[in-house]
Amino acid sequence: MKSYREIRLRPGKEASLQRYHPWVFSGAIARRPEDPVEGETVRVLSSDGTFLGVGHFQTGSIAVRILSFHDEPVDAAFYERSLTGARKMRQTLNLIRPDNTIFRLVHGEGDFLPGLIVDMYGDTAVIQAHSAGIHRDLALITEALKQTLPSGTLKHIFYKPEGTLPCRADILPDNCYLSGGDGVSGIAVENGLNFRIDWLKGQKTGFFIDQRENRALLERYARGRRVLNMFCYTGGFSVYALRGGAAGVESVDSSSKAISVTDGNVALNFGDEPRHSSCSEDAFKFLKQLAGGEKELIILDPPAFAKHRGAVGNALQGYKKLNHLALEKIAPGGLLFTFSCSQVITAEQFRLAVFSAAAISGRKVRILHRLAQPADHPVNIYHPEGEYLKGLVLRVE
Ligand code: SAH
Repeated sequence: MKSYREIRLRPGKEASLQRYHPWVFSGAIARRPEDPVEGETVRVLSSDGTFLGVGHFQTGSIAVRILSFHDEPVDAAFYERSLTGARKMRQTLNLIRPDNTIFRLVHGEGDFLPGLIVDMYGDTAVIQAHSAGIHRDLALITEALKQTLPSGTLKHIFYKPEGTLPCRADILPDNCYLSGGDGVSGIAVENGLNFRIDWLKGQKTGFFIDQRENRALLERYARGRRVLNMFCYTGGFSVYALRGGAAGVESVDSSSKAISVTDGNVALNFGDEPRHSSCSEDAFKFLKQLAGGEKELIILDPPAFAKHRGAVGNALQGYKKLNHLALEKIAPGGLLFTFSCSQVITAEQFRLAVFSAAAISGRKVRILHRLAQPADHPVNIYHPEGEYLKGLVLRVE
């Protein structure tokens, strides 16, 4: 078996690993190789030399990301087993269907593969590396992916490390196709609806797959309503609302690029659709100018207002202000779908921010649904940090 170099922890620092939390913080380390390579696979031992786990080393606050709590090699067979497990899980969720070719195949720690994201868009896999170790193991992962997915179903593999890897001179890879790349259609299907996905230039891997179930719920409530989709990005919620029979849908995003993508996705499904309109505008400005009672269903799905703990206070103020504007303007009997994707904000903190907004508006507000990320974005129970998306559906009198 391949021999990995060792990292020894300080006394008492083994407890979190014994509870299967997959991170080793740099402060927990007593001894490590003198010249560690970014992303190298290491064996982690307790202060008395007991084996704890195998993982990827990286300079920074999270020094090791554990891939296995067994003393085993992280090799081609390891990745094949892991990816097969991930694929089978998505099959049992019934997410791999002719009318649903968009799903997340690997969700980092939630699939016991810290640092690795793999999103599927039809016959294209988009890989993101959030750690140096995943970047180093890319060839193994790519090969495992080809072995794992039934032949003919995977034609293109696009690697998108941009913005997710630490910027160091020795790791500055470019976005590129690792396989295929010619004749890519870019169109994939979610619950029977078509979307053009731009993994080359779009945010994240090109699409917010994590809102799939919430979009499906919205479709059930859209009939006959005048819908406002704020922060529409690729227009996911808009397209579902239109299929659900909305009386009208207005899509708003500050990015004009996002608006043209949204318009394109509406046309892809419904052709020239008179019920849809769109507008490139700042959300706060738009809501301030909106006539009261004009919209009967509003979606608020902003970008993460807090990216780190220090920003939580300001972010909560931001959520309160945004939700207050929507609660003030929504028609009586209206529905508000409101979200936060900030990992550092808890569901309880978010609920309290929306509660404060409701109290100022003076409206009668009830919570109909509490929403979260879907099952192809699972949370490893030993890694609660993996929980990030939360939402509420409110009925406003
Ligand atoms: N709801 C989308 C995802 C939203 S991503 C979906 O289901 O796919 C967040 C979007 O908010 C981005 O498209 C970004 O351009 C937009 N945005 C960021 N700040 C904004 C602002 N102040 N006003 C309006 N849109 C904004």
